[in-house]
Amino acid sequence: MSNLSSKILERLPKRHSEFLRELGVFADKKKSKLYLVGGFVRDIILEYPNLDMDFVFVGDAISFVSNFTKRKKVEVKKYPEFNTATLVFSKNLRVDIASCRKEKYPEPAALPLVSKGSLRQDLMRRDFTINSMAISVNKNFGRLIDYSNGYEDLKKGIIRVHHEKSFVDDPTRIFRAIRFKVRYGFKIESNTSKLMRKALHDKLIEKLTPVRIKHELVLLLEEKYPKEAMANLEKLGLFLHINKNFKIGDSLELYDEIDIRRKDIKVWLFYFLPLVYSTTLATSIEIGKRLGFTKKEEEAIIKLHIAKERLKKLPKDPLPSKVYTFCRELPGEVIYFLSSVSKKELGQYLDKYSKVRLEITGKDLKKMNIEEGPIYKEILEKTLLAKVDGKIKTKEKELEFVKNYLGFKQ
Ligand code: ATP
Repeated sequence: MSNLSSKILERLPKRHSEFLRELGVFADKKKSKLYLVGGFVRDIILEYPNLDMDFVFVGDAISFVSNFTKRKKVEVKKYPEFNTATLVFSKNLRVDIASCRKEKYPEPAALPLVSKGSLRQDLMRRDFTINSMAISVNKNFGRLIDYSNGYEDLKKGIIRVHHEKSFVDDPTRIFRAIRFKVRYGFKIESNTSKLMRKALHDKLIEKLTPVRIKHELVLLLEEKYPKEAMANLEKLGLFLHINKNFKIGDSLELYDEIDIRRKDIKVWLFYFLPLVYSTTLATSIEIGKRLGFTKKEEEAIIKLHIAKERLKKLPKDPLPSKVYTFCRELPGEVIYFLSSVSKKELGQYLDKYSKVRLEITGKDLKKMNIEEGPIYKEILEKTLLAKVDGKIKTKEKELEFVKNYLGFKQ
């Protein structure tokens, strides 16, 4: 396969292909060379959905973009430190254009030193052969440039690094290899697999900063098959390199019970919870710290452990108000996780109980000549719980409940 033009145009929405053509014509006019690269090229060949167009430009990408966007209605973000610009036409059409570069790793797992390079250097600095192809956007639109047999590897479903030091330079590539393996059902070539294990054995994951490990783990948890992704990491023994007590064990089976996605929860955090469900609270906190969790994310894992214990004390068929008070301090991810693996009634909180609101307010209590103070909170809380239990439905009934409640107390 050497020309992919029809395949690209077939798969792109009109707006995207018009943009490509315009960009190509402009590059020709400027006698400059521009290429589509990376994941977009891989996915075009695989016919896998992907509208994330990344370009490399031979020369100064920022001035090219500045010239191209003159008198155009488009938001341009420039990143001179990376010689890159992002063009945002709309929510669905945003592209990165970077200058071709080469990289040098000053030490294992450190960020690379970057300098201007050729297209070949730019492609060969990449992680795997399947991610190292380019497609010309110029006059010869659609021509494939493939210096490392990426096309053949892609057709065979093989993930292969370019050189022996690839995982030493950048151990995040271990996570990336698993990401593509699981997503496309590919195989990791045997030498690549050996190098990956050697990097793990040589403790290179330990050298990564929290933010880089977290980023990769989040991407894996957001993939379509988080269980398979985690099973692959477990098989490699990778979790133990994040924390020496990070043992997954039977937790993987929990994934079979929690394949539901909701808009109101953070998918990756939800899929992270099984990993720490069976570890101790102390280990979970250490793991959260190693991964650079935010306060809120750390809180979610602490609350998971607390709720797991408290759950033991919840009656077998709890009243809705019991479920309500159990859940209301918990993040949605924790509620949904526990409702999937342990107590399905908790799911009602998200779907139903959390939406219950009182019609009466403090003003109504004032009208009833109740003296203002902490009692207001107590009355409203009791009324709300009664409403959650379905005992009252209308405003009149709420007022009646308050009267009874106070009468009962006096
Ligand atoms: P996805 O479909 O998951 O977004 P992608 O391949 O597009 O996958 P990106 O992280 O957007 O992934 O990276 C774009 C390209 O940049 C990759 O295809 C690869 O060529 C290169 N790349 C990204 N990360 C690395 C890395 N850690 N080492 C070397 N090359 C990388």
